[in-house]
Amino acid sequence: MKAAGKLMKVFVTRRIPQEGMKILSAAAECEVSLWDSDEPMPKAELLKGVQGAHGLLCLLSDRIDAEVLDAAGPNLKVISTLSVGFDHLALDEVKKRGIRVGYTPDVLTDATAELTVALLLATARRLPEGVEEVKNGGWSSWKPLWLCGYGLSGSTVGIIGLGRIGMAIAQRLMPFGVKRLLYSGRTAKAHAAEVNGEFVPLDTLVSESDFIVVSCSLTPETQGLCDKAFFSKMKKTAVFINSSRGAVVNQEDLHEALSSGQIAAAGLDVTTPEPLPTNHPLLTLKNCVVLPHIGSATYSTRGIMSALAARNLLGGLQGTDMPSELTF
Ligand code: NAP
Repeated sequence: MKAAGKLMKVFVTRRIPQEGMKILSAAAECEVSLWDSDEPMPKAELLKGVQGAHGLLCLLSDRIDAEVLDAAGPNLKVISTLSVGFDHLALDEVKKRGIRVGYTPDVLTDATAELTVALLLATARRLPEGVEEVKNGGWSSWKPLWLCGYGLSGSTVGIIGLGRIGMAIAQRLMPFGVKRLLYSGRTAKAHAAEVNGEFVPLDTLVSESDFIVVSCSLTPETQGLCDKAFFSKMKKTAVFINSSRGAVVNQEDLHEALSSGQIAAAGLDVTTPEPLPTNHPLLTLKNCVVLPHIGSATYSTRGIMSALAARNLLGGLQGTDMPSELTF
């Protein structure tokens, strides 16, 4: 693969699973360089590394803004992100420069939905607290009033954003005996019929749900969507789960709602910032379960994501179809 007889330069911002690296290495005329670490690149290194690149393979933790695009320069034809979310890419700037974008939808849907259900059950049934009590001697006997939580059977579940992942979460929750499945978003979805989903205004979803699951994309409209007013409309017995992006939630308002008993519990796979500082007030609450953004973290899913990101990159370099190209 050559640009005017020269090697095409590809820059990868982190160690990624070998499935993707093998594909890139096999593209003989593609010169690959890599930030050879499991930790994120400092911005200054990114600005250096990306210089002159034709293709950039990045992660959701790399903010790709005008400065990075300018540092890359006019060679840059394609950005391939190892994620389905693309809120870390300044798409207006990317578009201006005529750069194509690849992402990894679908292949991580099952893993992320499964993790979200695990987080919901762990939060509602207080698993981390229980595990801790076993270890610290707090388990004195079987006690009728101890470590009670909330069950899904007969409940109303509200899903904010019934997209690919939201739908997969709904499909997994229904067999637990959920009575009503509400969802909100910009438009009603034909596929909602499969889970008897009722399209309702956000306010209805918030006030009637026993479990609220956020699985929408982060956009200017969803940024800070779950704030004081939102939590104040929730049932006191309701459980809040977020596996989309941290910025959909106002964390100060969530902390207030959890510590004042306004809502029962929250489970978060995503936070602002990431990592959440270990002295963050949310981490002092027993009714808040925080995971380190591991929605898609199964060995096989990460391998498939890596291969797809590599194929997207090569398609963009060759000017051919990309398996998953973002239209924007
Ligand atoms: P998707 O199929 O595009 O679904 C996104 C959903 O967000 C759509 O149903 C959309 O509804 C909804 N939405 C957009 N604007 C909204 C608004 N203003 N109010 C309510 N809903 C709104 O994407 P996906 O593949 O399911 O992924 C969803 C998100 O999950 C990603 O963007 C990413 O941030 C996050 N994610 C997290 C992890 C993790 O590890 N925790 C893993 C993968 C993905 P409409 O169609 O009606 O607009």
